[in-house]
Amino acid sequence: MSKETQFIRSVKGTRDLLPSETHLWQGVEAEARAVLGAYNFREIRTPILEQTALFARSVGEETDIVTKEMYTFADRDNESLTLRPEATASVVRAYIEHSLYNEGGIQKLYYIGPMFRRERPQKGRYRQFYQIGAEVLGSDHPTIDAEVIEMLMLFLSRLELQNTALLLNSVGCPICRPEYLRVLRHALEGVKGNLCADCQRRTETNPLRVLDCKVEADQPIIEKLPSILDHLGPECRQHFDRVTAELSERGIEYTITPRLVRGLDYYTKTTFEITSGALGAQNALLGGGRYDGLAEMIGGPPTPGIGFSIGEDRLVLAVADAAQGKAGWSASPVAAYIVWMGDRTLAPARQLARELRRQGLSVEIGYEPTKLKKSMGIASRIGARFAVIIGEGELQSGRYQVKDMTSGEQQEVEPAGLTDYLRSRLASARHVPMPLK
Ligand code: AMP
Repeated sequence: MSKETQFIRSVKGTRDLLPSETHLWQGVEAEARAVLGAYNFREIRTPILEQTALFARSVGEETDIVTKEMYTFADRDNESLTLRPEATASVVRAYIEHSLYNEGGIQKLYYIGPMFRRERPQKGRYRQFYQIGAEVLGSDHPTIDAEVIEMLMLFLSRLELQNTALLLNSVGCPICRPEYLRVLRHALEGVKGNLCADCQRRTETNPLRVLDCKVEADQPIIEKLPSILDHLGPECRQHFDRVTAELSERGIEYTITPRLVRGLDYYTKTTFEITSGALGAQNALLGGGRYDGLAEMIGGPPTPGIGFSIGEDRLVLAVADAAQGKAGWSASPVAAYIVWMGDRTLAPARQLARELRRQGLSVEIGYEPTKLKKSMGIASRIGARFAVIIGEGELQSGRYQVKDMTSGEQQEVEPAGLTDYLRSRLASARHVPMPLK
């Protein structure tokens, strides 16, 4: 490479997740799959690329996501494509496209994967970020809302996340919301001039979004705006009361937050968010809600649904501390480093490495003859739990030296019993999944 050749860096707002952190991601994902599985959710994998219209119609033409944040481009045949900014619309599209409703009953689906939004990058906010999400399609029963939230609480407790808060609201439905919007517009008339430029625009295009505004100076004004909860129709009111009652029955604490309208247009009735005290400014760990009209918005049959999406990047940030001491969250250790000395020992050493690896143990072996001291240095650097030493003496005695790199204790072990020996010693350090409480 010549001196002038400039190094090509990763794209702004995207990140490489390095091996020193991917074990946390794997831990979080394994825990998510375990809990989702326990509630009978099945995985769905949809494409990252979708037709732009899918998001424009469902997320909403006037939302920040659609107006400012989507990675949209014309394909070579001029079809407008978008890197998915979220996955609910895709999951509902797939549900309709493959007539999953024909399977009868409700569908419980989950996904894990990258999303793309062109936001201003900062800690906890990226242009490529990851979500773990789930959707329940085919019923509008309030028990489902409570059960989905119960599942989330179980998941967060299994991650030993403390200091989280569940915020809850109802955004009504197309029957009762127009009346609230009328009242809201009316109230906004009087204060519009004092709001930020974005909100002034929103009062015209999408007044509900004003409630979302994060601008400090706007807050006292927004606090005084009428609450959507005072304008729910009888059906939405009853639904909301049932959800809150069921949460209380389940011992789940929540804070009713009438301003929580969420940034996507497809929501109806229940909306919720969980924040984490472990995060800074970007403290929303996950968000979700009901979207009973979404399937129709994208041309499918009427299908009520509810779902949520967890920001995995933020989740990993939040669990990083709690995870330190947790056995299952440590990077998977190298079980053994095989030290061989002299040509005659190479063949049995290779044989041993192969055998242990076949048994599923993580094993490393040097490729060149190395002095004992240096080999032990390597064993220690790569974090091997044991060093298995095979020298001329060991060949003759037919027993290998096994050094415990943590305690420094050394023992002679016969090759035939080596796997069992290592396994039993490693058992205490290995990740044993916790039972679901
Ligand atoms: P939303 O799809 O907007 O409802 O967001 C759901 C969750 O995804 C949020 O609560 C965040 O945890 C996470 N999230 C949304 N946007 C980003 C982003 N740009 N970077 C990282 N996480 C994000």
